This record gives sequence, C-alpha cells and structure tokens, in this order.
Amino acid sequence: MLTPHPAVESVWELRAEGGSGPRVGVLGAIHGNEVGGLRALERLMTDAGAREAELAKGTLVLIHGNPRATAERRRYTAGGTDLNRLFDFGWVDRLAREAWTYEHHRAHALRSVLGDLDALLDLHSASQPTVPFAIAASTAEGIALGRATGCRVTHGWDGPGMLMDHVSIGHLVARGRPALSVECGQHQAPETSEHAWRILLRFLGALGVSRHPPETNAAPTYRLFGRVVKPTRHFELTKPFASFDVLAPGDVLGRGEGVTIAVEEEAHLLLPTPTAARGEDLVYLARREP
Ligand SMILES: [Zn+2]
Repeated sequence: MLTPHPAVESVWELRAEGGSGPRVGVLGAIHGNEVGGLRALERLMTDAGAREAELAKGTLVLIHGNPRATAERRRYTAGGTDLNRLFDFGWVDRLAREAWTYEHHRAHALRSVLGDLDALLDLHSASQPTVPFAIAASTAEGIALGRATGCRVTHGWDGPGMLMDHVSIGHLVARGRPALSVECGQHQAPETSEHAWRILLRFLGALGVSRHPPETNAAPTYRLFGRVVKPTRHFELTKPFASFDVLAPGDVLGRGEGVTIAVEEEAHLLLPTPTAARGEDLVYLARREP
C-alpha cells in the first residue's frame, strides 16, 4: 500500500502485505536535475510498477530528494547549495537558521527519514557519459552489494578527505547498514532511467525484500585514490573526459592560470565535471583492482 509520509513532503511509503521487515530507502533526484532515479520512483508508485517490484516483505521509503531543484531543472536551487554535501549535519549548530538555504531545510527534514532506514539506494546520474557504477562502502559486504546491482563498483569514498561523511548514504555506511549510491548514466540519456529501474530491482532482490535475482557476474572494482578539486577559476580538463577514461603515468589531467595537474600513476577517471566551479570537485581518480 502506498501512503504519503506523515511528516515530510515528497516522501512516500510502499508497504508489503503484512508490513513487517526492513525499511528500505530509495532516493531519486537528490540532485534536482538527475531525474532517472525519479522516474524509477514514479514507476514504483504506479500499480504496474509496484507489481513488477513484487515486494516480499518490508517497507520501501521513496524519497524525492530535492523537489524544488527538480522544478528549476538544476542540481540545486538558485542561491542554494548541494543537498548531498549536508548530511554530516555539522552545520546545524554552526550556521544560523536565517542563513539556511532551501537545501539546509530539506536535509534537516530528511534527517529522521534517513535515520530510520535499515538500507538505502541513492540513484544519481552524471553530467558526462558513463556506464552505470556503484559507490559502495569499502567493506566486503559493501562491495558485494554493489556487485549485486550488476554495476561496476567503486569504493574508497570513505577515505581521509573524501565525501562519505557528507552524503546521504554516509549516515548508514557509518552504522554498518547496507547503502549504495549508483550513477546510472548521463543525465538526459534515454537509457539512464531504465538502468535506474533495473539497478533498483536487483538491489531489492539482494536485500531479500523482493524476489528479483541479484546479478551474479562480478563486474570490475575500482578503489579511489584521489579527489581533484578545481584549483583555479579557468582551470580546464585537457579534453572532454568520460568516467572510466584512463590516464597513463605523466599524462596531464588539466591546466589553467599557471597550474598544471598530471597523474603520477595510471588513473581511471570518475565523474569528470567540466562545469564545476572553483573549489568544487572536478574529478576523482581510481585504481582498477585485480
Ligand atoms: Zn548526483
């Protein structure tokens, strides 16, 4: 049965018959313009989609992450901030409430929703072309869960200076609960929403809340070793890279205003973002694991 969340807008609950079992969150469009995951949520909320998902137990908590940014067709609202960097909640005590943007209020509203979950899948898409890949906890269980979705698996996002503490799944990963973010393809690519749907069904199957078979063929895994923040305003990547493009030792990643960045070892690129502003994440570097 589908019901709106009693307290938080743009959140719904889809309960299996009987209703007992884990609470499994599915997040779409935490970045407003990443609508592939949102289409998967909408599909779950139709009769046919719910039938296709065949819940065996538990409750799905369906969360439209940033509805206002979706209406504005932007990553985050004009004048706002990246919602998926606010989930460490350190700012609640540091930042005066008058200075909160829409995203601060939204993160605050979602705090208890995420805190109540036993598992979470956060569906994203990327500005540049990519095959789908999972962002997993660096544990055997996290990597296995990523593989069960049929995607390439990346991990190491919880290393020093990395992002895991600030993102939606960080809260669950820190507590040892199953949680994944998945990049399902490029924002507007027609196949991205279909990828999101298949990934969602396999995720539910892997958790045992639906009867969908998880993927058993092991896709390659990658461990992050670097995060490159755009160093200067006019710094540019050497070319329009896609995720999983490979640089050889010594290859130049980008340059601008007297700064040149080259890689010292073979590097697989993840989420190159040419539109990043100075100080924002430009690209991540990973090693392919044997
Ligand atoms: Zn995203």
